[in-house]
Amino acid sequence: MVDNVFRTRSLGVAAVGLPDQYADGKAAKVWQLYIGDTLSRTEEYRNAIVQLLRQHKCQRILDVACGTGVDSIMLLEEGFTLVSTDASDKMLKYALKARWDRRKEEAFDKWVIEEANWLTLPLDIQKPGDGFDAVICLGNSFAHLPDFKGDQSDQKLALNNIASMVKPGGILIIDHRNYDAILETGQAPKGKNIYYKSDLTRDISTSVLYVNNKPHMVTLDYTVHVPHKEENKQPDVSTFRLSYYPHQVSTFIELLKTAFRGKYRHTLYGDFKPHHLGQDSAPCYFIHVVEKTI
Ligand code: SAH
Repeated sequence: MVDNVFRTRSLGVAAVGLPDQYADGKAAKVWQLYIGDTLSRTEEYRNAIVQLLRQHKCQRILDVACGTGVDSIMLLEEGFTLVSTDASDKMLKYALKARWDRRKEEAFDKWVIEEANWLTLPLDIQKPGDGFDAVICLGNSFAHLPDFKGDQSDQKLALNNIASMVKPGGILIIDHRNYDAILETGQAPKGKNIYYKSDLTRDISTSVLYVNNKPHMVTLDYTVHVPHKEENKQPDVSTFRLSYYPHQVSTFIELLKTAFRGKYRHTLYGDFKPHHLGQDSAPCYFIHVVEKTI
């Protein structure tokens, strides 16, 4: 695996990447393969999310990064009520198809799917009463938002909008890859992926872009080996590239604190196990659970 580090002083050079990295439909298609043909999360993941939602007595859920619908479908199957949004129509296409295919099931018939951007969320969707019981933003999605202005103002606006959708007493569940470890070692931690079931071979090559000596963007090049249906044929190799803002865990907690205007209770998990800052282990993902206190 080749790992690259790029350094620049000018933010202009760093401001590359598309607002919708899934716009050409290629990543959306390969993403389906990457996360697993069965469109499902591991049992460990399903149990952890469902348990958190039940513990907090949540029924009405807003999934603000539903993508192809993987988490929303999992939660519909568990009896939750879902409003699912995403900025990419190429990703939503898969969610819309799943809703259509299963429209005879009541939960799917009632499933609301809308196109919405975190930066304009209150304008894009209707907030029910004082908000949703829970808002979820999972699958390393929030890190897709680039920091073009270099002051995290877009991140702050997006998190404010997302937090505004949580009702008092409700929760936000939001995650990101372990960028602390990626920045320290130059590679994504190699632990078991507790998120996705896919057993397709995957390689992830990592590049880090520094602007003014601050980590500004991490680019992951995914290689997925897709087996051929016919025997004896070499697998097809599909690649796609996604760029992320490398959220470090302590700074991200500060961003959450601001978004909830100090009225919050924060719990940190590493791969769904309780985690405290400075703990000597390198989970693949950090999951933040933030309760909006009254
Ligand atoms: N949660 C899904 C999707 C992960 S991919 C899963 O785990 O499989 C990340 C998703 O975030 C993409 O579908 C992308 O379109 C969406 N996204 C990125 N930036 C966004 C923004 N500003 N507003 C809303 N959605 C965004």
